[in-house]
Amino acid sequence: MDLGIRGKIALVTGASQGIGRAIALGLAQEGARVLAVARSAEKLEHLVHEIKASGGEAKAIPTDLGKSEELEGLLAQIQPFGPIELFLANTGGPRPSPAQELSPMDFRQAAENLLYPLVRLMEGLLPGMKAQGFGRVLAITSLAVKEPIENLALSNTLRAAVTGYLKTLSREVAPHGITVNTLAPGYTLTERVAEVFEYRAKQQGTSLEAALAQQAQQIPTGRLGRPEEIADVALFLLSSRSSYLTGQTVVVDGGFTRSLL
Ligand code: NAD
Repeated sequence: MDLGIRGKIALVTGASQGIGRAIALGLAQEGARVLAVARSAEKLEHLVHEIKASGGEAKAIPTDLGKSEELEGLLAQIQPFGPIELFLANTGGPRPSPAQELSPMDFRQAAENLLYPLVRLMEGLLPGMKAQGFGRVLAITSLAVKEPIENLALSNTLRAAVTGYLKTLSREVAPHGITVNTLAPGYTLTERVAEVFEYRAKQQGTSLEAALAQQAQQIPTGRLGRPEEIADVALFLLSSRSSYLTGQTVVVDGGFTRSLL
């Protein structure tokens, strides 16, 4: 299937590792020109090198999305590339903790990292998408939006906020040819999952390997996902082919969640 994104400009945040990196690579393989954002310049340059080595186009824009001056700098740096047509909104997950061990400030900080940058970037990107009459927005959230996960209070709270914001926005911008969706990954083998399971292993007095194996047993596929398996679904949602699919949360979790819808 031709995804119809050759030559389009794609902004990918959280692109230096894990799910975001796999999506950046996939977009470049499909011919999109990738603007790759994350904090680590070194990891981004490695990604850009890999994309260019296989004939693709990419540029690294090191940015800490949690710092408002860097966020403004990002918006200024993408300006010369013209309207962004594809936007993959991704960033790191907040630290694991039960709700009662968090302060109000922890919630404010999590909102500043997960919600504020998304809203500000949408404010900057929407005029260009509207002028083009085309846009694809996809945010990576978590299966926590279907079933909140124990000890991930910040993630459970902020992913729901992101989903509510984007669902609202999706209906407003649909007449402009812009689709807005979220992809909720299940357990996927990345650096992030290691952090979550190290915490879980410590709580249970077991090893990281044992905690991961125990989780795998509870997933119908019998294993955790690979970042490329998440990316394959994301590529379709970011493509020209998904034009009648908007305002949705697509769960990619190996069948883990039990809810009907
Ligand atoms: P990851 O931690 O491996 O990668 C996150 C990416 O975001 C990295 O490129 C990192 O550099 C970047 N990033 C983090 N903070 C940033 C900041 N302030 N500014 C700019 N970039 C920043 O995560 P992942 O496993 O690839 O997951 C991607 C998202 O999906 C995360 O939000 C994660 O919580 C969520 N998620 C992951 C899983 C999983 O099993 N891996 C499951 C459910 C949800």
